[in-house]
Amino acid sequence: MTIEYGPHFTPRGLRNATDYIVVHCSAGPVTSSAEAIVRYHMLNLKWQSCGYNDVIESTGIIVPTLHQDAIGAHIGDVKQVGNSRAYGICLTGGVDHNNHPVDNFTKAQKNALRDRLNSLVKQYPTAEIVGHRDLIKRHGARPKDCPCFDVKTWWYENMSAFDIPDRKPIQVFDNTHNKVPRKTFFDWIRSLF
Ligand SMILES: [Zn+2]
Repeated sequence: MTIEYGPHFTPRGLRNATDYIVVHCSAGPVTSSAEAIVRYHMLNLKWQSCGYNDVIESTGIIVPTLHQDAIGAHIGDVKQVGNSRAYGICLTGGVDHNNHPVDNFTKAQKNALRDRLNSLVKQYPTAEIVGHRDLIKRHGARPKDCPCFDVKTWWYENMSAFDIPDRKPIQVFDNTHNKVPRKTFFDWIRSLF
């Protein structure tokens, strides 16, 4: 059996809605490649495709494993939501060598995740960003630690507004030529916390 994946691939058809963007981990080595995950899903589990829309490798490379609007196979355990309403992103890693849950994702991976989410929220502005375990908890599905970190808190602390380095406040001049430093949007956001 050959494996197929990529941003064109829609073996289960397209979603009608994207109510959730769900972050997962592979629960395998952080150094796995995206292709290893595709092979696992298609060759071992005999699925039609990789379960996730994207896989983010430890180097920060984002591999689109399905079309963005393709129905994946990643929250079948949360029946109340289902795969036809949710985008799935997987980070490789999430377990230590004893198979215990651990936040061992690289900085490059988290940065890539943040960048991906920043673009996805523009494409799916009404979607809620959640970790797999958040949906599990909310709907009482069988407990799981995936993705082994608190996605909502992390996203709140890392979304785009906080990621502009060394942005200087814009200096504006009023009509009387007095220098009036004005808060930038980013300073304003920071002042709220
Ligand atoms: Zn998961």
